[in-house]
Amino acid sequence: KYYEEMTQRKKLFNEVQEAKGNIRVFCRCRPLNKVEMSAGCTTVVDFDAAKDGCLGILATGSSKKSFRFDRVYTPKDDQVDVFADASSMVISVLDGYNVCIFAYGQTGTGKTFTMEGTEQNRGVNYRTLEHLFRVSKERSETFSYDISVSVLEVYNEQIRDLLATGPASKRLEIKQNYEGHHHVPGVVEAKVDNISDVWTVLQAGSNARAVGSNNVNEHSSRSHCMLCIMVKTKNLMNGECTKSKLWLVDLAGSERLAKTDVQGERLKEAQNINRSLSALGDVISALAAKSSHIPYRNSKLTHLLQDSLGGDSKTLMFVQISPSDQDVGETLSSLNFATRVRGVELGPVKKQIDTGELQKTKAMLDKARSECRSKE
Ligand code: ADP
Ligand code: MG
Repeated sequence: KYYEEMTQRKKLFNEVQEAKGNIRVFCRCRPLNKVEMSAGCTTVVDFDAAKDGCLGILATGSSKKSFRFDRVYTPKDDQVDVFADASSMVISVLDGYNVCIFAYGQTGTGKTFTMEGTEQNRGVNYRTLEHLFRVSKERSETFSYDISVSVLEVYNEQIRDLLATGPASKRLEIKQNYEGHHHVPGVVEAKVDNISDVWTVLQAGSNARAVGSNNVNEHSSRSHCMLCIMVKTKNLMNGECTKSKLWLVDLAGSERLAKTDVQGERLKEAQNINRSLSALGDVISALAAKSSHIPYRNSKLTHLLQDSLGGDSKTLMFVQISPSDQDVGETLSSLNFATRVRGVELGPVKKQIDTGELQKTKAMLDKARSECRSKE
């Protein structure tokens, strides 16, 4: 009976997903920090209609710009609120979908907070694995799952394996296997069997990120940190197997560097960061335009994500913003980028569905969400 209910829930959920398209954009605004408060910064973000996914930015000259996303999180919303909405997307990986979740925004707006979080206040990465283990256990009579993770960093268009121990191996390159899947030969794929393995692995990855850089914050704001969760599923009823992956990406800061500031090594870095972020924008635009050529290969970032961006895969973007008047320029540029990303959902993946059914599904999802919360 439980299996039937799960199947029904999954079917309805997929219909809703299809009706909405495969790209979701959630906007999250961090609180004003102490430094900003003592400097007398003011908040330019208006959350009056946040519940409806709308947010307003009070730009200079008292003009107000409005944006609409699938969700808007105010500084009061916590990690649990955020994950509650992301969890259904995450579960798709157990159903054989490729999924990509990424955090975009200016440095200091909470990308790492959303994805990694802190030991006391864990983020999407940890909660995702926790949720995957929970659901795979619930389904264990019907499915067997094999879950492993890799942690990569892309810095200056070079891939580094953050789980590798010992001396750095040779240059890592992206290859395509006989099934057409993209992968990086030689990268550590750590098998994780339970949630206690996970924190250790994620910590190892996070610690390795700092190794060899003299300014940890600067380094992390210029590199992309990419967690890949690989899932092999076997349906024990009919023997059918699927192989899917979920990318969780903490992108480099989207801010433009002041031109006068940038020389030599930093100029190269800045160009590379912009190259991969603008390549991401180009891929998304090409997907939106249903272009026959999607330029995945223009950057390591998009090349790695190729299987999980576009096509049958599902994408969730967190656009992270600062509430401060000092950052309003960067905030507007991030929100404009996010709006462009959201435009991709106006694709052909549209199905007419009964609104009565939709309401039922919503109620089901709400119920699932509150169950999920009460387990926290
Ligand atoms: P980024 O990765 O985008 O550079 P961080 O995640 O490092 O930004 O966040 C910058 C600071 O702001 C950190 O100290 C972080 O703990 C804090 N912060 C970010 N978002 C939130 C939030 N929603 N609530 C509370 N603190 C936050
Ligand atoms: Mg960060």
